[in-house]
Amino acid sequence: MMTAQQYEESLKKLKLVVYMFGKRVENVVDDPILRPSMNAVAATYDLAMRPESAELLTAVSHLSGKKINRFCHIHQNREDLVKKSKMGRMLGGHTACCFQRCVGLDALNALSIVTYDIDAKYGTNYNERFIKFLAHVQENDLTCDGAMTDPKGNRGLAPRDQADPDLYLHVVEEGPNGIVVTGAKAHQTGAVNSHEIIVMPTVAMREEDKEYAVSFAVPSDTQGITYIIGRQSCDTRKLEAGRVDVGNAMFGGHEALVVFDRVFVPWERVFMHREYEFAGALVEKFASYHRQSYACKVGVGDVLIGATQTVAEYNGAARASHIKDKIIEMNQLNETLYCGCIACASEGRPEPSGTYMVDTLLANVHKQNVTRFPYEIARLAQDIAGGLMVTLPSEADLLSPEIGNWIEKYYQGAEGVAVKDRMRILRLIENLTLGSAAVGYLTESMHGAGSPQAQRIMISRLVDMKAKQRKAKRLCGIAAESER
Ligand code: SF4
Ligand code: FE
Repeated sequence: MMTAQQYEESLKKLKLVVYMFGKRVENVVDDPILRPSMNAVAATYDLAMRPESAELLTAVSHLSGKKINRFCHIHQNREDLVKKSKMGRMLGGHTACCFQRCVGLDALNALSIVTYDIDAKYGTNYNERFIKFLAHVQENDLTCDGAMTDPKGNRGLAPRDQADPDLYLHVVEEGPNGIVVTGAKAHQTGAVNSHEIIVMPTVAMREEDKEYAVSFAVPSDTQGITYIIGRQSCDTRKLEAGRVDVGNAMFGGHEALVVFDRVFVPWERVFMHREYEFAGALVEKFASYHRQSYACKVGVGDVLIGATQTVAEYNGAARASHIKDKIIEMNQLNETLYCGCIACASEGRPEPSGTYMVDTLLANVHKQNVTRFPYEIARLAQDIAGGLMVTLPSEADLLSPEIGNWIEKYYQGAEGVAVKDRMRILRLIENLTLGSAAVGYLTESMHGAGSPQAQRIMISRLVDMKAKQRKAKRLCGIAAESER
């Protein structure tokens, strides 16, 4: 396994083509805007080495029998799934942001299932190729980016009907050594902190779209790949000298548009090619695993609740009964989310490949709750924090020899609380509910791992409605004698 330091060094060796604010970023690792996101992934390496967290962050490889980072592991039993949920909460609480590495973990597990299933039907050797790739990932403790979401263009049209055929990533050439692909993947979490990019289709496909039914893995610095970093609210605060206004000065996340311009993929890295009827299964498996992964939001919720209790104390309002009650509600909502990600893991079952899969219905219910509860928790946090959270002058004003005394005088709160600390906690709440971390805690809770409607469709498909009706009809005498 790599240490955090070795991970950082390994990223420095990558020759990524990264753009931000219209300019090429030459030193990605040390860029002040991107650095906190690297720190967050580095925490997945760091905590795996610490005795108190190693049990959750490591596992024993079913391939080599060696101890590996859990982010490279294929779930072998329910306990692995439960540990994954607990690991997500722990890391969310440690970083208070998206720590990015789960997309790769979820892609690996989904592919371990689907490559096996394709081979069972067609006698192909995708699973063998995948296992070789997995061994490489485990052996070198790599971070993988699971890349699923195509730009999609006109949402009313199938991939083949789009005005521009590249709006869904597809195969443009095929040769004896491999394939050439063109297209893009949008909103890619942690893209420039990854060693490998694992591409999967974004929707179920029909035969006419079979050139779009493609899955593969390539090193992140493969020729033809360009990363364009997405903006986040308040991102340029990271360029300022002071650290207070950033809110969370240690960690952050990033998303990028990843453009594939005629990228060559050797056959041994291709895990699906034209088996269009398995595209939907791969999407469903990846999405369900990633919906479980939203255990991370519970950990971020822990931080937000802790910050809210702190600000209530700093404001001198912590004893008010309505404040206490609101904080109880925040905890109730957050622990309800925890119930969902533990439940879908505890009810996991093995697939034909041997990989354990979460309970799909419960994973979708969990993610549906995630599209709502963090917003309510954030609303309560803003209620308790007060308007100062958004009208507070800057750290530079506090430090100003001319006006700093006014800030000190008029923004004092409960006795004994330093004004700077009050500013710090308010900025953290701002960061989590309005700033760059709100990307992860709010909008990503809504749209990451599929927008709310995607889960509602899955819930309607997966609940056994007939069984529920039978129960009701039996009790009130509607059912036929034979069914009673
Ligand atoms: Fe992991 Fe959560 Fe980020 Fe997804 S949103 S990659 S689950 S930390
Ligand atoms: Fe996500």
